[in-house]
Amino acid sequence: MLNLPSPRAEVLDRRQQIARDLRALLGRDDLLITSANELKGYETDGLACYRTVPMLAVLAEDTAQVAAVLRYCHDNEVPVMARGAGTSLAGGALPQQDTVVLGLSKMNEILEVCAENQTARVQAGVTNRNISTAVDDLGLFYAPDPSSQIACTIGGNVAMNSGGAHCLKYGVTTNHILGVTFVTMEGAVVEIGGEAFDLPGYDLLGLIVGAEGQLGVVTEVTVRLMPKPEAARPLLAGFDSALDAGACVAAIMATGRTPVAIEFMDRPAILACERFTGAGYPTDAQALLIIEVEGSEAEIEIELAFVEAMAREHGATSISVAEDIVSAENIWKGRKSAFGAIGQISPDYLCMDGTIPVTKLPDVLEQIYAIGDRYGFEIANIFHAGDGNMHPLIMYDSHQPGVLDRVEDCGAEILCVCVEAGGCITGEHGVGIEKRDHMPLMFSPEDLEQMKALKRGFDPKWLLNGGKVFPLTETGIPAGQIDPTQGLH
Ligand SMILES: Cc1cc2nc3c(=O)[nH]c(=O)nc-3n(C[C@H](O)[C@H](O)[C@H](O)COP(=O)(O)OP(=O)(O)OC[C@H]3O[C@@H](n4cnc5c(N)ncnc54)[C@H](O)[C@@H]3O)c2cc1C
Repeated sequence: MLNLPSPRAEVLDRRQQIARDLRALLGRDDLLITSANELKGYETDGLACYRTVPMLAVLAEDTAQVAAVLRYCHDNEVPVMARGAGTSLAGGALPQQDTVVLGLSKMNEILEVCAENQTARVQAGVTNRNISTAVDDLGLFYAPDPSSQIACTIGGNVAMNSGGAHCLKYGVTTNHILGVTFVTMEGAVVEIGGEAFDLPGYDLLGLIVGAEGQLGVVTEVTVRLMPKPEAARPLLAGFDSALDAGACVAAIMATGRTPVAIEFMDRPAILACERFTGAGYPTDAQALLIIEVEGSEAEIEIELAFVEAMAREHGATSISVAEDIVSAENIWKGRKSAFGAIGQISPDYLCMDGTIPVTKLPDVLEQIYAIGDRYGFEIANIFHAGDGNMHPLIMYDSHQPGVLDRVEDCGAEILCVCVEAGGCITGEHGVGIEKRDHMPLMFSPEDLEQMKALKRGFDPKWLLNGGKVFPLTETGIPAGQIDPTQGLH
């Protein structure tokens, strides 16, 4: 685990100097946060076991301010990190103590909606949910739906290439981004992509989406909108064993008849979510699948009959279908509150994020439970099962001395199992600080060197969001620019 230090005297001195410079540069005082108390609001993200108070924060209001701050940081060798809503579960938005946090949450305007072309241009700090809300009356929506969608920003989604329950049918963020306004570390403002598909030249958009804020800062995004389906209905299928439920998912996917969403919850998750939201989940089940289908009423009836037959064939002990919009919303509210619900039954948890081929679900689940037993941790599993994106939540109590080290070892073993099963160490949460030291599980030194060369091309002084993504031993970052306390194992 990281032993996070208190600010060094030189950091505090530098803070005063940089604050003076940025105030003068921006001509504003109210955009800066410098008091240690207020900076505590920026000390962590969704990976709350790690905290470091940053040097200072700037809350930008437009692209010109972002460019000015980045140029200043580049010229003066100041580490800097973009921050959206700070919901990253991989520690992507964890600052270091000598970092300027460049907050984008004030840039939250929907700039333009084009219903004819089914596109919207929005500022990076707009929340994911607000995009869909803004175009709801037009019969459109923005498809990728991370469970954090009421809080997380589109800029953060672009950085992490976020997914969500309905990405099984619609695809993840990268499939829905047409263009971005991108500010380089040197402060140049670049338009990448546009409103049309497949522009000539290098696919820089493909590079920026999922780059974890390592290459530059996104200030505006053009998203693709989709027509809302005529109707959608979720079905709940309870099982006596997680393995039966896993086998059912694999069997449904093998038919090629892809529902919009297939979400999995095991017993600890079912009980926690039901207690938290009263979603109507079967509390006697050992595992639950939420399977949603959509289309016209006739199509829905046909697809529900198919899904029900598959579930029964694989030993479902209970089946129920949402009767109306309210019960459908309750079912999704339960699922989307799952992490909060687990927080109610366990003082702390670490949410892992690995992806596996769907056919390996039963086998991998069995191994995850065995690993949890060996370490003495209860593990709740809640995940996007249709695309094999697993989220084992390792429950623990941080008051127990040394427990975080064991939790991380347990998590590392789970990721190894995912990789051995033919999967990978992240499905949608990214690498951040959490999985940086697991990168060699998947990438050779040569692979990592190519990625680092790319990073240096955009950020030669390695100032942007340092200490993330690359294993500490591999970073080549100048000493003092990485977290001085070394990292996770
Ligand atoms: C309860 C909960 C449920 C979640 N469910 C899901 C889920 O279903 N699917 C999923 O994929 N994720 C999920 N997440 C993770 C998280 O919400 C996503 O990674 C999200 O995209 C982060 O957005 P953010 O605005 O909070 O970004 P932040 O956490 O602020 O930042 C994340 C990273 O993006 C970079 N960044 C942020 N904004 C910009 C920008 N404008 N330009 C460049 N870089 C930027 C940051 O530097 C950082 O590295 C969940 C998190 C929580 C807490």
